[in-house]
Amino acid sequence: MTTRGWAALVLAVVLVALAVFAAVTIPWHRAPAPRADQVASLASLPKDQVARARAFHSELRPGSYGSMAIGLIGALLLGLTPLGAKLVSLAGRPFGGNWIAEAVLGGLAVVLVVEIVTLPFAAWRHVIVVRYGISTQSWGPWAVDLVKSFAVGAVIGGLALLGFYTIVHFAPRLWWAFGAVGAAALVVLLSFVLPVLVEPVFNKFTPMADGPLRSELIALAARDGVPVRDVLVADASRRTRAVNAYVSGLGPTRRIVVYDTMLTEATPGEVVSVVAHELGHAKDNDVLTGTVIGALGTAAAVIAIFLLGSWGGLLRLAGVDSIGEPRGIGLLVAVATLAGLAAGPAQGFVSRRVEARADTHALVLTGDPATFEAMQRRLGTVNLSDPDPPAWEYLMSASHPSTVERMAAARAYARGAG
Ligand SMILES: [Zn+2]
Repeated sequence: MTTRGWAALVLAVVLVALAVFAAVTIPWHRAPAPRADQVASLASLPKDQVARARAFHSELRPGSYGSMAIGLIGALLLGLTPLGAKLVSLAGRPFGGNWIAEAVLGGLAVVLVVEIVTLPFAAWRHVIVVRYGISTQSWGPWAVDLVKSFAVGAVIGGLALLGFYTIVHFAPRLWWAFGAVGAAALVVLLSFVLPVLVEPVFNKFTPMADGPLRSELIALAARDGVPVRDVLVADASRRTRAVNAYVSGLGPTRRIVVYDTMLTEATPGEVVSVVAHELGHAKDNDVLTGTVIGALGTAAAVIAIFLLGSWGGLLRLAGVDSIGEPRGIGLLVAVATLAGLAAGPAQGFVSRRVEARADTHALVLTGDPATFEAMQRRLGTVNLSDPDPPAWEYLMSASHPSTVERMAAARAYARGAG
């Protein structure tokens, strides 16, 4: 069998493994709460507040989709014309066209161009979120955050580029196999180190102060059978009024984080409800599931890129001889951007199912659907979420069930439990 044949076979095996893993770990069959409950939930929200949330989202929309379109056009121009290859050569020229310089500096230059063309849209978004009182940041701290995220991206991206092109350089025929394993390993590593290396770049995390709330949360976790050493509080209020909580990390780095805004905006009962939802993610190992799916998906992407490399027309468009050379980075970015856009709705679908499962967990664990509904109402109100967003937008990008779906789930649960 040819190398291409082997690559195609391994790709098929990875895709089957991905499908099987997703089939057994994702809660596919989860009926949404009855629409009648959703409509009643929507009607229970103040009209002016719903109107304000919708006005906020319709103001954000042109910038969001503009950014998506310009980012895509930029990536396609760099990947499907020789522009990207020229940029990589230019970045490597001061180093005599050294392949490491081309791979790392050229790769970062290509990504930076895409970031820069979408920067005006990010600034536009900032203006709107400040006007609506969500963001508390002035331009200075906003710019510092931006530089920090560029720096984090440059370190992680630089290491990934160096690793990938080193493998291609030393294993020109089998790079797809080593590259797939390496890319999957990087995804797993990132999940481990994110909470300890990356998150502290943007926020300070402190253990929740001793008191009745902390004791109640630790007791809740113990009752749930989820070992939690601590609940951490992030100083989110330095940039936002939005409230949130999340679980990140794997094994020894797993932690539950609550925004400090949550503690000032929500009642203790609502915080308990939010943490019960996060405990659901911890108990069902949702971070691990996401990591495994991400790792298998990334491995499949590397092999797919290798197979795409025999498409002569594509290489001619990009002005490169092989997809494995650093000058082909623009082509990789273009393919990755297209794949990312195409995968968005599927990712959203999976995420919404997982989130709905965590909601059910919270309802069962607390046995308090009224407070859960109050918490959803609070999240939606403070964060200016559209409680019942347009179906097309929901299907394209929503990572969570809508506010009215989550409130309705609480109402349906209350009926079932009552
Ligand atoms: Zn969640």
